[in-house]
Amino acid sequence: MINSHQALSDTVISNGYCVGCGACAVPEQSPFKILMDSYGQYRAHMDDSPVFGRTDSSYEELCPFSSSAPNEDDIAKQYYAETCEHHPQAGYYKGVYVGHVAEDEFRTRGSSGGMGTWVLHELLDKKRVDYVIHVRSETADKDLNNIPFKYQVSRTLDEVRLGGKSRYYPIELSQVLKTVRDQPGRYAVVGVPCFIKSVRLLQAQDPILAERIKYCVGLVCGHLKSAHYAESLAWQMGIPPSELEAIDFRIKDPSQPANRYSTYAKGPSGEKVVPTNNLFGADWGAGTFKYKACDFCDDVFAETADVVLGDAWLPEYVQDSDGTNVVITRNSDIQLLIENARNDGRLALDDLSIEKAVQSQDAGLRHRKISIGYRLHCEKEANAWVPTKRTKPSRTLNPRHEMKRQRLRTELRDLSHKSFLVAKKTGDLSVYTTAMTPVYNRYLIQKRSFLRRTYFLVKKTLKAMIGR
Ligand SMILES: Cc1cc2nc3c(=O)[nH]c(=O)nc-3n(C[C@H](O)[C@H](O)[C@H](O)COP(=O)(O)OP(=O)(O)OC[C@H]3O[C@@H](n4cnc5c(N)ncnc54)[C@H](O)[C@@H]3O)c2cc1C
Ligand code: SF4
Repeated sequence: MINSHQALSDTVISNGYCVGCGACAVPEQSPFKILMDSYGQYRAHMDDSPVFGRTDSSYEELCPFSSSAPNEDDIAKQYYAETCEHHPQAGYYKGVYVGHVAEDEFRTRGSSGGMGTWVLHELLDKKRVDYVIHVRSETADKDLNNIPFKYQVSRTLDEVRLGGKSRYYPIELSQVLKTVRDQPGRYAVVGVPCFIKSVRLLQAQDPILAERIKYCVGLVCGHLKSAHYAESLAWQMGIPPSELEAIDFRIKDPSQPANRYSTYAKGPSGEKVVPTNNLFGADWGAGTFKYKACDFCDDVFAETADVVLGDAWLPEYVQDSDGTNVVITRNSDIQLLIENARNDGRLALDDLSIEKAVQSQDAGLRHRKISIGYRLHCEKEANAWVPTKRTKPSRTLNPRHEMKRQRLRTELRDLSHKSFLVAKKTGDLSVYTTAMTPVYNRYLIQKRSFLRRTYFLVKKTLKAMIGR
């Protein structure tokens, strides 16, 4: 019989579905190590040498992309089914809010409304946990935006405050989770949906992690980016990859809506800030530098987390350049902390319907929860192994031209990794932009025709309704 670690290697890892979360490297005597590959993505690598005492039982069951692990519904049900309502797109929910932090500098120093850092800070401040596991610069004492960004364990409120902002940059959990095993205490961890799923799967196998990790704080997620994403933006700003020292992907521009943020980059020659929309490859929908695994994940609202925070991409809120959060709670303690702070005026939050919260992530949900069926079908057609997902493979998509868009996104994803690697090797950024531009132009034409068709469809429907 094939060993569990070998099976994980032969399926998830060999077929490119590893998101580099680090879960498989956490068990003692694990044969897996997490290393950065030539595309700037963290990946699990298996040590082929026979290791005495290696435990084989369950590596597949702790990988978020393995077909042998329970899915997000199975996991979330155990935690939230008794106390929460359920929505097919957002998972379980208790409180649903929109707004921002009103105290201190959380909002100014956050990507959107500052709730991400605030929830962790509040858990520590109110003594619900002893430690916070979050993502911050390894040298945050010198510059908050210095690369690399890493998962780190913080134990003071000041340290927690250093961990604001979304880092569209590869990170992995194995080192910090080993610290949790070695250092007794109560922990809160923040992560994107697949990383929180990994934590839950590890907790199911490791009683120490189950006992010590008290709260999981989720981030709404579109997808993860390789390190080359940061390098590609900075290079366009005149800072080549070898000189990139610091980056902030979410600089708020007071003259623009919240979704028109800028990118800051620093190299030895100085600092630059450029509107992100002016940089090639920053169109989030095109999915450049995306991990392949992200195209095979159907969790947008971190369905296994105790609370999830995202951007309120809704017309009513997007005009406010300071940033606004959408928040869904699932855990009663966190719900109470939020309600108390709202009553004290420390949080400026309004109740939101779950339908509105879902609407705020409309594009991401269509890509992740619906179109995933077609992407699974395409992989199967090519006789490749695919992970079992909650959505079944689907030969077709409605509207039909959506299939072309999916194929173009896949092409852009793969081509960005390959062409940027060559650009770096040759020291010539134009290798990347020249390879990508024709495919991106086809993608834009397809997108515009999709928007035009949608516009006429809505117009026709409204006309029919008014005429009625
Ligand atoms: C890769 C990625 C993709 C995202 N995609 C979407 C999306 O499609 N739609 C949407 O609405 N929101 C998305 N978000 C979330 C959004 O960018 C904000 O992080 C969220 O709105 C919280 O902002 P804030 O101001 O409340 O938090 P902040 O106060 O800025 O705190 C952010 C928290 O997230 C942690 N963090 C930062 N980077 C990472 C990381 N890579 N992995 C784990 N933790 C991290 C920080 O340590 C901090 O605790 C994404 C975030 C990431 C990291
Ligand atoms: S996704 Fe995570 S658990 Fe799965 S193989 Fe990669 S690093 Fe290991």
